[in-house]
Amino acid sequence: MGTIPERKPFIQSLKKHWYDGRVQEVAMLRLDVVHPEVSGNKWYKLKKNIAEAINNNHTSILTFGGGYSNHLVATAKAAQYFGLKAIGIVRGDYSRQLTPTLEACIAYDMQIEYVSYEEYKNKGDEEWLRELSVKYDNPYIIPEGGANKEGVSGAAGICKYVPDVYTHICVSVGSGTTYAGIARSTPQQTIGYAPIRGGAYLNEEIHKKWGIEHAEVLDNWHFGGFGKHTDELISFMNDFHLINNIPLDVVYTSKMMYGIREQIMSGYFPEDSRILCVHTGGLQGNSNVSDRLVY
Ligand SMILES: *Cc1c(COP(=O)(O)O)cnc(C)c1O
Repeated sequence: MGTIPERKPFIQSLKKHWYDGRVQEVAMLRLDVVHPEVSGNKWYKLKKNIAEAINNNHTSILTFGGGYSNHLVATAKAAQYFGLKAIGIVRGDYSRQLTPTLEACIAYDMQIEYVSYEEYKNKGDEEWLRELSVKYDNPYIIPEGGANKEGVSGAAGICKYVPDVYTHICVSVGSGTTYAGIARSTPQQTIGYAPIRGGAYLNEEIHKKWGIEHAEVLDNWHFGGFGKHTDELISFMNDFHLINNIPLDVVYTSKMMYGIREQIMSGYFPEDSRILCVHTGGLQGNSNVSDRLVY
């Protein structure tokens, strides 16, 4: 089986003055460096799905996402490396105005089908999936966000890069698949940060779907909702880069790091904490704010 040309992730400590020396250490696990498009957590969630597709003799992969989905681009590019055809079912019609994300998907030969928001809601519906299977000649189907058991088990592989000395693991949450994979496989306290209004519902979802007891997903730092941002968030990202030399993405990791800093300043973490923040990538999604970023 093929693979993607991946760079090994590494741990980078943040500058002490960023967290005012209030805990022992804050560091980031740089999964963003794994690959520019198949980046961050997305590759871990895809790995076992792609292996499963190939082992079961599928020649194509079909998945779902919005017009700005990191998961869609990652799937398009990964499929290309493995010689699989990729089909993306996209929520909403962007055919007259492609997003940079969809442009990239198309450049990596993904076949795009636009569906209405209404139809997209059936993304988990057996019957619709059967129809899509017939229409696209029996593709291997990956749910939105790679949220299946192969996704969770692949995401658990991230823990191999988490040394025992860390007391807390922090990770951004969208579908909760990466959170579930990590929380399931480490003894450390795992805190999730959902950049969505009302994202705390994910606690129950992660419990029901993946059996994680005491999931801890916070939704205080959504900055207006999924995909939204404020001037303050943009200047936070620029300052963060200036101090720590790490680029954050505007949708997920910037909001998480903002939250973590607030928690540190308010004394949420004990002084002897060593906090490992997972950089889940997603930098391709910065293209719509790139003129306001210093990196
Ligand atoms: C997709 C994504 C997430 C969310 O991952 P889930 O496994 O769906 O919870 C977090 N961070 C970034 C940068 C992402 O692209």
